Amino acid sequence: MANRQIARRIVVSGALSICLLFFLFIRPQGPPSPAVRAPGHIVHPSTNAPGIVIQDDLLKGAVVMPRLGNETVKAELGRATWKYFHTVMARFPEKPTTDEQDALRSYIYLFARLYPCGECAEHFQQHLNKYPPQVSSRKAAAGWACFIHNEVNVMLDKPEFDCNDLGAFYDCGCAGDEDEAGAEDGTHPATSRAAGKSDEPDPLDHLAVEISKEAHRRYVTLKMFINSASLGKQLDDELNIYRRIEGASQNHPGREYVRSLLDSFDVDGPEEKHRCLVHPPLWENIKADNLMFGIDDDSVFSDFEENELRDPSPGKELDGRTIYVSRELRMPKRLDAPVLCDFGSAVFGDEKHTEDVQPDIYRAPEVILEAPWTYSVDIWNVGCMIWDLFEGGSLFSGRDPEFQTYRSRAHLAEMISLLGPPPPSLLAQGDLTGKFFKEGNFCAGIPVPEYTPLEARETTLEGEEKEKFLCLVRKMLQWEPGKRSSARELEEDDWVQTGLRG
Ligand SMILES: Cc1cc2nc3c(=O)[nH]c(=O)nc-3n(C[C@H](O)[C@H](O)[C@H](O)COP(=O)(O)OP(=O)(O)OC[C@H]3O[C@@H](n4cnc5c(N)ncnc54)[C@H](O)[C@@H]3O)c2cc1C
Repeated sequence: MANRQIARRIVVSGALSICLLFFLFIRPQGPPSPAVRAPGHIVHPSTNAPGIVIQDDLLKGAVVMPRLGNETVKAELGRATWKYFHTVMARFPEKPTTDEQDALRSYIYLFARLYPCGECAEHFQQHLNKYPPQVSSRKAAAGWACFIHNEVNVMLDKPEFDCNDLGAFYDCGCAGDEDEAGAEDGTHPATSRAAGKSDEPDPLDHLAVEISKEAHRRYVTLKMFINSASLGKQLDDELNIYRRIEGASQNHPGREYVRSLLDSFDVDGPEEKHRCLVHPPLWENIKADNLMFGIDDDSVFSDFEENELRDPSPGKELDGRTIYVSRELRMPKRLDAPVLCDFGSAVFGDEKHTEDVQPDIYRAPEVILEAPWTYSVDIWNVGCMIWDLFEGGSLFSGRDPEFQTYRSRAHLAEMISLLGPPPPSLLAQGDLTGKFFKEGNFCAGIPVPEYTPLEARETTLEGEEKEKFLCLVRKMLQWEPGKRSSARELEEDDWVQTGLRG
């Protein structure tokens, strides 16, 4: 019995912590970053770049500068910096020594760490992780810089620059400062070259640098929306939530517990377009109510691939398509932490909401009353869910004796029986208050069940343990949203912390 309690407590504390980390993570952290196409760049830190003489930790450490925020300053700084950055590459030796190559590589990593716009620096480091600097020659460096600038352009929804035109934009100075002809007729040497006025071949013309976007193969999961058209706005909502998540700090403690989006695209079907989201694969544990886990074992997929090649799954033609028999994935040897996914119904917390949300029995009072709601509805939800997990039965059923099904009035009556009458301040905000209350009194045509306090409902714990657990639940189950504890406060709760320490 005691062991069961401890195990349950660890599960509850773990589940709560993941939920709380998630809330902390989704909480707005400034304007959403446009890191849309970049997410794939974030996942696999590169191994140490060869030949770096300074400690890797110093070069690739955390971003130094704070968030910049101001978009105008950010853009001005960016333009000036790119000019400088490309000019550095344009003037880099054509045949650099090893020392010069090391110097440039180290410089680029430090440049990324110290770039004065913190959020830009963080994104830039992610690009560097995926596409390490190319420093073997001027052409390689200039081509790489152009490529990486284009990655930033794409991330910011800007057009890509044609890297073959690089020589026309950045003066390497290699045609000689004494490009008198250009100076005399008032044209910039680079412009002259672009117009074909210089006889000197431009070492940056026709860059032959190819940077592979596929540094290594990886396995991915595609989530395809069958009825994209019928989802309407909701289709973009999920993508926008993933974009917000990808744009948030990758160092956030909750990051690894939230599914990543690597990319997205639309494919044409016979009748409509279908949105596809590209994710790292997850393992679904059917028995534990569809908990999804990260997979730390690629052999599951390589085995799957080999088996499919050796013995292809049978398929049949149907309506012009081939349908294949599914092949089972074997159980991975190692699973990562559980991961939160499926954000189709997630919303941004910095907008006003009164719409109906949450599974019936977890609906918060303000949701039922159609009063404005915010993050604290999730706190109410977690409070109810913890009770379910720990006690093995729901606090509220909302089952209306008259209709024999869920009804808001029955749910409210159960809340009143547990918490007493709701405060006038909450009632005053609800568009639907008049449907259930008159002058503050509950009159929805249904009796309020007999008052049974939480102490009487909790039957598995005793003494101090029980007190602490109920104290945690009460921090969440408050009529007034503002009186519920925040996710951070709950994470520090005594009962949760003791459970996590095991
Ligand atoms: C390292 C770094 C990271 C940044 N990260 C962010 C970020 O995360 N978020 C954010 O909002 N802003 C970021 N910026 C700023 C952003 O890249 C732009 O500088 C800014 O938005 C102004 O854009 P712009 O359209 O004027 O042209 P810019 O991108 O500043 O480019 C200036 C000029 O360079 C030329 N150019 C464009 N593309 C290329 C290329 N591929 N190769 C060579 N030349 C080119 C064009 O002539 C262009 O007009 C970053 C800037 C830098 C230097």
